[in-house]
Amino acid sequence: MKSFDYEAVVYDCEVYCVSCLPGGVDVEGDDVSPIFADSEWDYYPVCAECGEVHNYINLTVEGRRIIREHAMKEATRHIVSEFERLRTPYDINNGYCQEWAEYVQAKLEEQGIDVEVEETPEDYEASGHFWLKVDGRYYDAECLEGVDDWEKLPIFVRQKH
Ligand SMILES: [Zn+2]
Repeated sequence: MKSFDYEAVVYDCEVYCVSCLPGGVDVEGDDVSPIFADSEWDYYPVCAECGEVHNYINLTVEGRRIIREHAMKEATRHIVSEFERLRTPYDINNGYCQEWAEYVQAKLEEQGIDVEVEETPEDYEASGHFWLKVDGRYYDAECLEGVDDWEKLPIFVRQKH
């Protein structure tokens, strides 16, 4: 998509797909504002008519943080409810870190955010663990704010002492 392309517009304070504009409204009219592909939003605009999520725009840093945190908290709730003996993010990191990471990855990729699931290298002297790399930072169930180096994740910091 080119920066000046658009699939959605704002009309009367609501977001619409171009094809969902109320009858009689001219898409090129003065009261219709295109949502251009290079614009930045804190969230993805959603069509008031059909509910389509327009993820062709860019998210702000704050917007990406909100979506990331939401997905991670949802993954924690989901896994704690699936497995009875699990109570806390610490528990998830003892055996369910891969499920957690893959759940978050699926949720974020649905939203157009690229995620890598990484794993403890074989020659590294610590327990096997899975974590996420998103926008250059590393996350797991115990570390929703992220760290700039995966060895700083709490699970690895604990093992050094
Ligand atoms: Zn629509």
